[in-house]
Amino acid sequence: MDFPATSPELSVIIPVYNEEAGLAALFQRLYPALDALDTSYEVIFINDGSRDKSAALLAQQFHVRPDTTRVILLNGNYGQHMAILAGFEQSRGDIVVTLDADLQNPPEEIGKLVAKMREGYDYVGTIRQQRQDSLWRKKASRAMNRLRERITKIRMTDQGCMLRAYSRHIIDTINRCGEINTFIPALAYTFAQNPIEVDVAHEERFAGESKYSLYSLIRLNFDLVTGFSVVPLQWLSFIGVILSVGSAGLFVLLLIRRFMFGAEVQGVFTLFAITFFMLGVIIFALGLLGEYIGRIYQQVRARPRYLVQTILEQRDGLPIATKPLQEAVQQVAAVTREENGR
Ligand code: UDP
Ligand code: MG
Repeated sequence: MDFPATSPELSVIIPVYNEEAGLAALFQRLYPALDALDTSYEVIFINDGSRDKSAALLAQQFHVRPDTTRVILLNGNYGQHMAILAGFEQSRGDIVVTLDADLQNPPEEIGKLVAKMREGYDYVGTIRQQRQDSLWRKKASRAMNRLRERITKIRMTDQGCMLRAYSRHIIDTINRCGEINTFIPALAYTFAQNPIEVDVAHEERFAGESKYSLYSLIRLNFDLVTGFSVVPLQWLSFIGVILSVGSAGLFVLLLIRRFMFGAEVQGVFTLFAITFFMLGVIIFALGLLGEYIGRIYQQVRARPRYLVQTILEQRDGLPIATKPLQEAVQQVAAVTREENGR
């Protein structure tokens, strides 16, 4: 890769998936906020296989600000965290900030994170003040936060907020990892030597809807649990021991009653209930094992984690696309047409 001689101080990484309705507003607030910081910066947008006009809008923005904008178009939807990893690999800044494209994280807060990084911290986490999300999301994330506190060594108040800053050292380490199913704030934390948290504002989504379905949220939280802890496996062993001891006690009790009262058939349904409970525990245990094994399987296949369709950036003062831009945008347009035709 031919990097320019001078790297910017700040890289801002933004994953984009079907965000056409909000991108214009994002550009309008992001660039002035970054210009106001009075530092050298690059904004890296990663189009995570959007099926709307997002790719075309990003390409347009690249032509408006080619000096500070880089666009990575992935060839499919790999998920927010993978898109950010793709951005990390291309980033050059000493300070790397991640941001959501939906304006839930105000771009004006980036300055606060940069100031903290300049004080010498290598990881600036964030705590959302008055989080603007649905009640059940807030409750569910609080529960997940508590679970993570118990089963990992990761100490953070609000794991879900993606507006965070990382040092070049942390990013380089993450780039060496090759993780597939991961949770970036937690992964970065494991490499941080001097982390700190700051309060940031949180807003409602500017346009569109959350790109996470209930299913993808559950998957993401499994990534967090299995990716950073084996404690659940140990819990399974404990549950197994407790259940075995309980069953042995029950057996002894039934044996004694057999000699005292002779053969009994009452209590069959209690026995059913106990059996079904045990079955439930076993299936849960199998599922949990499967979660770990599935991830091992994905990791050992060592396939490329994502495919980059094209990168739009400026080299030696000239805008270039690793594949002709027209072709890439046309492909996206074709997919959009196909979708609409269905
Ligand atoms: N996103 C992505 N790929 C996905 C899902 C989401 O790149 O498969 C991006 C999305 O465009 C946004 C960010 O990740 O910039 C956060 O997504 P969202 O706002 O939907 O999540 P929420 O705020 O509901 O947690
Ligand atoms: Mg959001």
